[in-house]
Amino acid sequence: MSAPTPLDPTLLAGGCAGPAALRPLLETVLTALADGAAERCGPLPAGGPDAPEAHVGGTVLPERGTGAHEALGALVHALARGAADPADPHCVAHLHTPPLAVAAAADLAASALNPSLDSWDQAPAASALEARVTAELAALVHPSAPAPDALVTTGGTESNMLGVLLSRERHPAPPRVVCGENAHHSTRRAAWLLGLAPPLTLPTPRGVLDPAAVRAAVEGLPPGEPVLVVATAGTTDSGAVDPLPALADVVADARRDRPAGLHVDAAYGGPLLFSPRHRGLLAGVERADSVTLDLHKLGWQPIAAGLLTVPDRGALLPLTHRADYLNADDDTEAGLPDLLGRSLRTTRRADILKIAVTLRALGRSGLAGLVDDVLAAARLLARRIAEEPKLTLQAPPALSTVLFRPAGADDDGVAAIRRRLLADGSTVLGRAWAPDAAGRRTLWLKATLLNPRVQESDLTALLKLVLERAAEPVAPARPAPRSLPLSLPDQRKPPDDRR
Ligand SMILES: *Cc1c(COP(=O)(O)O)cnc(C)c1O
Repeated sequence: MSAPTPLDPTLLAGGCAGPAALRPLLETVLTALADGAAERCGPLPAGGPDAPEAHVGGTVLPERGTGAHEALGALVHALARGAADPADPHCVAHLHTPPLAVAAAADLAASALNPSLDSWDQAPAASALEARVTAELAALVHPSAPAPDALVTTGGTESNMLGVLLSRERHPAPPRVVCGENAHHSTRRAAWLLGLAPPLTLPTPRGVLDPAAVRAAVEGLPPGEPVLVVATAGTTDSGAVDPLPALADVVADARRDRPAGLHVDAAYGGPLLFSPRHRGLLAGVERADSVTLDLHKLGWQPIAAGLLTVPDRGALLPLTHRADYLNADDDTEAGLPDLLGRSLRTTRRADILKIAVTLRALGRSGLAGLVDDVLAAARLLARRIAEEPKLTLQAPPALSTVLFRPAGADDDGVAAIRRRLLADGSTVLGRAWAPDAAGRRTLWLKATLLNPRVQESDLTALLKLVLERAAEPVAPARPAPRSLPLSLPDQRKPPDDRR
């Protein structure tokens, strides 16, 4: 292929000339993505953190720039070659989604146009689109609520923090957060960040909150102390869904004695609402005061695509904030939409565009089909594991997460198998602690299926790789933990200088 014509790297992405500047660069990017993926040829580069593929060479700030094509080609190629690629059917460790091509293409337009959703005069159409999409997605969560609305966030962590913040602002005194051991770690962080007492964290030996235990815990709080119950619809470790209707009842009863609220962290499970087949699993979510939803998990969006929904937009009023240059009173009175209270951030990218494009391109049934496919894949994988005497299934999957381990392996062995698969670059599995058949806390391999294109043969091959690694003798654990090399290879300091 002939070298692309050098392009002035100071050209702009927007305006009438922007697309012409972008087009040849896209060709370079797409070629580099394809070459990098072909060279990696797997879910992750082999060799672990020391592999050359895991590093990006070259000076980061040369005196003279190398030009747009060289820089894009070199760095995109390096990142693709060294990526953990969730589009590979054996990259199943985390709630790390393979983004849809249509969503990634829309995200390019958001970058090129660069609307900023902190004031209307930086994002006229984008802010109008965001208002419609958030209202409609919130109505999916709270269908019979008077004025459902949603905020766009960077993900579940920010949404959970906003849910706790809105609860704090709703009540006359700071609320006590009550959650399960199965709650996401960001719940604890939110309480810490917002100056609340550490959450009252209840044991969840069966993987989900026990409503009776929550009731007892709430009744044991000092009289009148506000409470926020945080439930999870799809835990990160196993996909378990807390019993939402019973927990909503507990909160409703608590309201007789104290201010009480329910926040549902549906970061993982929320998009089941698109699926007529599976939405029943989320029954009760509509009764929450706030709900976390992540479309960069079961929503196939490039990061970031988070939401916090509320049944009534009035609940968002505590976030109202004034800055004369963005939402002067007279501008607001004159009819310019006030966006500053729709986030704690100021400058905010149009993550709504990729979401809106995806909703329109696939429609409700298209998204339901993807949700159904990954849940079906998880059930199929669980069946294969249950049929294989050399493997143990922890439990039938609630959503699309499957926990399993080689029969007879101990916890160290399970951890070692996961690392061996990472090191050979063949499979990226996660790990999670959960009870075994005897109720003992045990380490399991975790497959989080988010790839709707996964085939039965991929799942069979995955189990074969695990069984092969399980049959190998366990190598001694690495001696001392060692920091990753922080410097670039060509500037690496001698080992003693490394921290
Ligand atoms: C992923 C996840 C979060 C955190 O979301 P981020 O988008 O990573 O910030 C919170 N809660 C649950 C249940 C999750 O699975």
